[in-house]
Amino acid sequence: MTTPDHGGTLPGRDTGRAGATPTLLAARRPTERDLAAGLPVPEKVRLLSGADSWRTHECLPIGLRSMVTSDGPNGVRGTVKDERHPSACLPCPSALGATWDADLVYRVAAALGAEARSKAVDVLLAPTVNLMRTPLGGRGFEFFAEDPALTAGLAAAYVRGVQSAGVAATVKHFVANDTETERWTYDVRLSESVLRELYLVPFEACVKQAGAWLVMAAYNNVNGTPMTENIRLLRDVLKNEWGFDGVVTSDWHAARSTQATALATLDLSMPGPHGPWGDLLVRAFDEGLVTEDLLDDKVARLLRLARRVGALTDPPGAYSQDQPGTAGHEISPALVDHGLLREAAAASFVLLRNRDGALPLDPARLRSVAIIGPNAVHPVIQGGGSAGVVPASVAGPAEALTAALGGQVAVSTFAGCQTWHMVPEPPSGSLTDPVTGTPGLRLEFTDPDGTVIAAEHRESANLAWWDGVPEGIGWGRPGRVVLTTTFTPATSGGHLLSVSGVGGLALEVDGVPVIDGATTVPDDPVEAMTRPGELRAAVWLEAGAPTPLRMAFAPAADGAGPLAVRLGIAPVASDDDLLAAAQAAAAAADAAIVVVGSAELTESEGFDRHSLALPGRQDELVTRVTEVNPATIVVVNSGMPVLMPWADRAAAVVYAWLPGQEFGTALADVLLGHAEPGGRLPVTIPAKEGDSPVLHARPGESGVLRYDEGLLIGYRGYDAAGLEPAYPFGHGLGYTSWAYESVQCPGWLADGSDLELTVRVRNTGARAGKEVVQAYLAEPGDPARRGRPVRALAAFTVARAEPGESVQVQLTVPARAFSRYDESLARWITPGGQFTVHVGRSSRELPLSADVLLSA
Ligand code: BGC
Repeated sequence: MTTPDHGGTLPGRDTGRAGATPTLLAARRPTERDLAAGLPVPEKVRLLSGADSWRTHECLPIGLRSMVTSDGPNGVRGTVKDERHPSACLPCPSALGATWDADLVYRVAAALGAEARSKAVDVLLAPTVNLMRTPLGGRGFEFFAEDPALTAGLAAAYVRGVQSAGVAATVKHFVANDTETERWTYDVRLSESVLRELYLVPFEACVKQAGAWLVMAAYNNVNGTPMTENIRLLRDVLKNEWGFDGVVTSDWHAARSTQATALATLDLSMPGPHGPWGDLLVRAFDEGLVTEDLLDDKVARLLRLARRVGALTDPPGAYSQDQPGTAGHEISPALVDHGLLREAAAASFVLLRNRDGALPLDPARLRSVAIIGPNAVHPVIQGGGSAGVVPASVAGPAEALTAALGGQVAVSTFAGCQTWHMVPEPPSGSLTDPVTGTPGLRLEFTDPDGTVIAAEHRESANLAWWDGVPEGIGWGRPGRVVLTTTFTPATSGGHLLSVSGVGGLALEVDGVPVIDGATTVPDDPVEAMTRPGELRAAVWLEAGAPTPLRMAFAPAADGAGPLAVRLGIAPVASDDDLLAAAQAAAAAADAAIVVVGSAELTESEGFDRHSLALPGRQDELVTRVTEVNPATIVVVNSGMPVLMPWADRAAAVVYAWLPGQEFGTALADVLLGHAEPGGRLPVTIPAKEGDSPVLHARPGESGVLRYDEGLLIGYRGYDAAGLEPAYPFGHGLGYTSWAYESVQCPGWLADGSDLELTVRVRNTGARAGKEVVQAYLAEPGDPARRGRPVRALAAFTVARAEPGESVQVQLTVPARAFSRYDESLARWITPGGQFTVHVGRSSRELPLSADVLLSA
């Protein structure tokens, strides 16, 4: 990582107001700091707020172009969410966490960086490195793990991968932003040692080991101070102590004060062009409340970022000592390779149980398979919120398994029950644009009097905008959005039609008004996109009869969030009938594959889950299927833990996370044995909801959210309480078996040294496989009595071996794993004594151990 040009500490000197034009030095390239110092104060300040939702400002006199940001983390959306500009949809980060494979994460992230480049994106707003403090956390699918060491190792690989493509990674959300309830305001109260030993760990690794170019300051408060104003954590810890030389950006709309955020060394306020800085910050400077040095440091950081991503280019011939690496990056079309997405998804699937080798399936021994479940039909490939992308194609489980088994085995598909909260989008091919006659719909933007301002053809009936709508529409302006299309039902019968958006909504079916009403404005603007209000009507439709639909949407005058509108259509169905049909099909088939899991809106940014139970009647569905077919394979399509009261009845259970667009192909690979389910749990799955060390994360009345469990989140909490989880952290079976043969470990270690371990494992099964070798460190004495973990993950690595082969792997336990943060001394200390390293295949299956004496 480069040394900050101010020497690692922040300036406090006021140098007065600078001149009106940048000073260009003839002989040497000016530093970012020189360039910053040469700008007039209003210009410096202008650069520090976004130009719009996703872009920073340009400053052409100094060769600075605008930089483009985009969410992350499970794809790179670009500045628009639009089916005409698709993005690869990766396995969600909890799935990447389940790979425990930093090399694979690096490869996926490097491909993501290349795709960002191809979309002209300079800054990816990812990775998300908060911790799965509670399994109910709405955004848990965006996190890698419940453990800081696993998160840190994979997040650092992700940062390196993205940045290898010349695209900046943004490590977010700094810090203790682990749940969504009251996410804009809650005030996390936690001790300094817990902050240091858990929640800061992944950020520190991304900054110090991977050299991340941005960090995003979160919405929440920590110990009474908003994170965007948290001078101690932003300036003292992140910048001065860790030497972070990049840009601290606010989370979107998280900067809510002028002086306090500026002094806390927030560098960039997003989005723009409005916000708490601009003229107010110029005035604060004029009043002597912020110094020019402080502004220069922010601008210099922004310019350093621009230099890194190729957005700062020397004016031609300006300097005599031109150096390479400053030109703009090439834009070349690059979508993440489907093969890599499929490989990564399979590598993340965790085989939780496999009775008598039920998996992999042998198609030669099967005549019929029933594919059952709401998620077989409507798979959930990604979580909700800002991370969402529109992929070019989705391989669903039902289609992909049918294709993989087709020809050899009779395959039938049954939903089994319905779990959706919002009426699903109409099936592909069922809508026709009345103007073009092609699949999709006609989108019009109109004046309030109906005059069309702009019109276009769209294929999707689920549309969202931050920018890019014509003047006069949305954000308090009176224009309308009108969708017209012709729907052709596949079946005759009752159909539910729905329209959603924040504002007035009307729907006509064949010229007859069936909906005319309004939805309410949500508190959290992101909900305008994730779960806007929905109005419904039931109508009778004939199979094959083209039915004209016209939907009009008048965005609410006081709606502040993105503009989003959606049309839903689904045949009316009864769960009793769906369950009965699925059970009958399972009874008649040789094997049943049941795909259950989250519904589209179960897991999302903006809110937490209320329960770990599967939505709808899915538990009943699995139970009824297992009652009639012992050869039942259950696939769970959830980004975070769910309760599986039926697990022991199933022949096999595969945890598939939110696996991205290659869900079905990866599932077929794994179920048929073309690929091994390579995943291990990055999060503990509880036997009962109440066993979770932390369940609900509801702030108290004053908005305070206490992290009273201290260090004991996840498996550490189960170990401390002596509770048996349903499936422990680190668990996963794969398709072969392993023997842990030996661990070599020095008996003595000097303070400050890393511990090198050599572990020998043998593949004792009949096929080649992957094993995740895990090392946990137990402190001397009785750590539980001191509120410290019984043992904590300290190192992990992937081993691969052929049948019968014995291989050696090296693991490095970092010196930091032997330390703890002493609050009274305000530094890390290493107490010394006899530590024990436990090595094995999960936090609860640790066959090898070795003692190591650490000198104090
Ligand atoms: C989210 C961030 C995201 C930003 C921009 C916020 O609501 O918390 O993770 O990067 O929006 O979409």
